Amino acid sequence: MSHVKLTELVKQFEDVTAVDGVSLDIPDESFTVLVGPSGCGKTTTLRLIAGLEKATSGDIEIGDEVVNDKRAYERDIAMVFQNYALYPHKTVRGNMRFGLEQHNMEEEIIEERVKEAAELLQIEELLDRRPSELSGGQQQRVALGRAIVRDPAVFLMDEPLSNLDAKLRVKMRAELNKLHDELSTTTVYVTHDQVEAMTLADQIAVMDDGEIQQVGAPTEVYMNPRNMFVAGFLGSPSMNFLEGTLEESSTGKFELDIGGETHDVPDEFIEHLGGHLGERVVLGIRPENIALNKDGVPANVHPATVNVVEPQGEKTVLELTLDTGQNIKAAVDPDTTVERGDEVNLRFDRDSLQYFDPKTGESLSFDAKSEQQVTA
Ligand code: ATP
Repeated sequence: MSHVKLTELVKQFEDVTAVDGVSLDIPDESFTVLVGPSGCGKTTTLRLIAGLEKATSGDIEIGDEVVNDKRAYERDIAMVFQNYALYPHKTVRGNMRFGLEQHNMEEEIIEERVKEAAELLQIEELLDRRPSELSGGQQQRVALGRAIVRDPAVFLMDEPLSNLDAKLRVKMRAELNKLHDELSTTTVYVTHDQVEAMTLADQIAVMDDGEIQQVGAPTEVYMNPRNMFVAGFLGSPSMNFLEGTLEESSTGKFELDIGGETHDVPDEFIEHLGGHLGERVVLGIRPENIALNKDGVPANVHPATVNVVEPQGEKTVLELTLDTGQNIKAAVDPDTTVERGDEVNLRFDRDSLQYFDPKTGESLSFDAKSEQQVTA
C-alpha cells in the first residue's frame, strides 16, 4: 500500500491543456474520487498516474518514489477500465492469472491468489467461463478480480460502473465500499457521477477545466464549497443562486436586496462580506434547505408561486417563481400537499446559506463556515 502525490502536474495535447497544474495528496489506504464534468481532465490524470500517458511537466510519486520515468508495468498499480478490457478468448481464470503469469509468479501463489479473489468477489462458479458467457456485472467483477490478484500498491479505476444498469450500479457501489474496507488498498477512482463520488469517497477532488477546484471529505465539500462551480456541481437538484445588491441597514445589519425584496444576512457573515457593500453578491441555498409555509408569514420569508410539483419518492421537488421573478427549486417532504399555482412562503434555513462573489465565482462565506465547523 502507498500514498500517491501529484505535484503541479500538466498534460498538454497539442493545443489542449487536459491537466493544468494538478497538485493532490492521495493518502495511503484512502479512497479518493476524481469527479467533474466530461472533458475536465480526470481520465488523463488517472492515465498519468498509471503511466499510460507521459506528463508534460510535474511530478508523480507513488510511495516515496518519483515514478515520472517509469513505464506502466514498472509502477505498482492495477487499473480497472470502464469497458472491462477482458481477453475474450481466455476463461475467467485465464484472465485473472494472466498478469501474474507475465510476472513469472510461482504456480502455487497464482492459484492461491485467484482462489482468494474469486471467493472475495463470489465468482468461484464462473472461473471456467469466457467473458461472452457473463453478464455485465459479472464481467466487471472479473475485471476487479484481475486487479485484486496483482495485490498492487494502488488501484486506479476509470468509471468502472458506468456500463451497468442503475440497479446493478448501486449494488456494485456497495460492494466496492466493502471491498475497500477489507483490502484497504489506496484507490483513485474517476467518475462524472456526483452521487457515486459522494457515496464512495473518503476524499473527493472536484475538477473543472484541467484544474482541481476543491479537495476534502465529501460532506465537507458539499456543505462548504469553495466556489460556485463546486456548489453547483455537487447536489441534485443543484444549489439555487440568487443575485442581489449587498446593503447595510440603519441598525448595522447586512441585507441583500434581491429584486426589491430584502434577505437578512446572518451576523456571522458580516466580517467576511464587509468588503462587498454596495456590490452584487450571490446567495446560494440548496433545495433541501428550503422549507415551505403555506400559511403564516414569519420573518425573512420569500413569497413564491408553485409552477411544477415533481414527486420523486423520498422527496418532492418543486419548481417555483419568487415574487421577485427568479426561478427556484425546493425539495420538500413527499407528504407535503401543494399544487401548481399555489402561493407559498419559502423559508431558507439560516445555517445553510452561502454567499459568492459573482465576478470571480469564489465563496465569500467559506472562511466563516470553516470557523463554524472548527468550533462546532
Ligand atoms: P470524460 O468524462 O468525458 O471521459 P474526462 O474528464 O475524463 O472526460 P479527459 O478524457 O481527461 O477528460 O480529457 C480532457 C481533455 O483532453 C478533453 O478536452 C479531451 O478532448 C482532451 N484529450 C484527452 N485525450 C486526448 C488525446 N489523446 N489527444 C488530444 N486531446 C485529448
